[in-house]
Amino acid sequence: MRSIRTALPSSILAPSSAVTPPPDAPLPEIVQVGAEVLRARAAEVPLADITSSEMQRLVKTMIEVMRVAPGVGLAAPQIGVGLRLFVLEDKPEYMARTTAADREARGRVPVPLKVFFNPVLRLLGERKATYLEGCLSVAGFVALVERSFEAEIEGTDEHGAPHAWRVGGWPARILQHETDHLDGTLYIDRMQTRSFAKVD
Ligand code: ZN
Repeated sequence: MRSIRTALPSSILAPSSAVTPPPDAPLPEIVQVGAEVLRARAAEVPLADITSSEMQRLVKTMIEVMRVAPGVGLAAPQIGVGLRLFVLEDKPEYMARTTAADREARGRVPVPLKVFFNPVLRLLGERKATYLEGCLSVAGFVALVERSFEAEIEGTDEHGAPHAWRVGGWPARILQHETDHLDGTLYIDRMQTRSFAKVD
């Protein structure tokens, strides 16, 4: 979430060079809205592949791209890789321009780096929250999006271990945003259209 121009094969069977760049390659660009890969359903990653060097390199690349952007989440399709994988991380320094009251209202708290392969997300409870949201793949814009306040996710971490997390507030919003990416959905599909705005 906020912060190759060609759609790559969405299958894990794609040639390795198409899935991950070599170690010394420059960081891939973040794919922008309009690219086919952002609108396709990403493919499951076989459990046995998660610990492969190729997949580990992909995770490392995604973390770097997310941090350089910077963003609080990044899904594999956003660098042109159609696999069910995302990373997220929210650092205190990203919140420097927010107020304590705003953080409290949004339930925004620091989140250490997390990696989810093949996540399954469940929305919990009736409570909703509506806030401005942006996306690194819709660069330069934000809009109001209603999301569930609380969610639970189950997936596999970068070591191939089961990984479940139940969370509310801003991290739950990030989870919803990133899981949407794996199904070809962008926040602009869910936004209050008249709130769509350009930002600096
Ligand atoms: Zn996004």
